[in-house]
Amino acid sequence: MSRRIEYITGSKFEGTRLTFVADVESPKSGRKAKFDCDCGNTIVANINHVKRLQIKSCGCIVHEMLIRRNVDMFTTHGASGSRLMSIYKNMKSRCYNANHKKYDLYG
Ligand SMILES: [Zn+2]
Repeated sequence: MSRRIEYITGSKFEGTRLTFVADVESPKSGRKAKFDCDCGNTIVANINHVKRLQIKSCGCIVHEMLIRRNVDMFTTHGASGSRLMSIYKNMKSRCYNANHKKYDLYG
């Protein structure tokens, strides 16, 4: 019998968003368990992957990082970002003007 660490339901894995819920039977593909993510999702993951911080969440951390990167592109970084913003602003004002004319027609 191989050495087996018992995890307690409700114990949090340091450095992750995952809380251990229960072991999942998976004789072939390593030891797996059910985890609650801080965001409310429940996932089944390989415990070793979580322990090595290869899995830190249900996937929501990656998702949030992507969103943050996109926001950065539009707000803080460099000339290309601010040029995009001014193009966006021009588009918006053009749009408002168009609406204005329409309003004049119908008003
Ligand atoms: Zn999550």
